[in-house]
Amino acid sequence: MGEHAVKLVEISLTAAEARSRAVAVTSWLLDREVIVPNTARDEVMAPSEFRAGPRCSDAALEAERWVGGGHTGVDVVAQRVVHHAIANYEPPTCPHCSAAAIDFDDHHALIEPWLHDRVEASVLCVTCGRSTLAGDLEGRWSFQIGDLAVVFHNWPPLADGFVAELGALMGPRTRMVVEHL
Ligand SMILES: [Zn+2]
Repeated sequence: MGEHAVKLVEISLTAAEARSRAVAVTSWLLDREVIVPNTARDEVMAPSEFRAGPRCSDAALEAERWVGGGHTGVDVVAQRVVHHAIANYEPPTCPHCSAAAIDFDDHHALIEPWLHDRVEASVLCVTCGRSTLAGDLEGRWSFQIGDLAVVFHNWPPLADGFVAELGALMGPRTRMVVEHL
């Protein structure tokens, strides 16, 4: 079995906004006991700052059965990076016509200016021709770029209500990426 991670990524915050929002997001997760500080950090087996808390099943129904051992930590990342589905990658789909909107090469060519210059391209869908901001293309197997993310390592699927609540707290443009290594 490979490693996987569910990542909620906020794509509209400045670096400064992301740092302050990270504090609020961390407090919220700790207050709800979805996470607790990882007091036994280990570079290989438990590298995350947090681990599942006593109420982790509020975040993911199956969590209690899944997140005991191994690398099942949680990290709040306040750093501008590419969050990529890696082995899960599929080209994102168009919100207008639901077909694949862009091919692999054209999609990945968007990374450099988006990451380094904060230029989020508008994508013309190869199927219907309509325009969509790169971060508004759909699909969890794609990539997103943002300054704030909450990463759940090797967790089962998150509950929709939890994703909506945490996403709203993170900011107005929170997206999901499901990575598999
Ligand atoms: Zn389309």
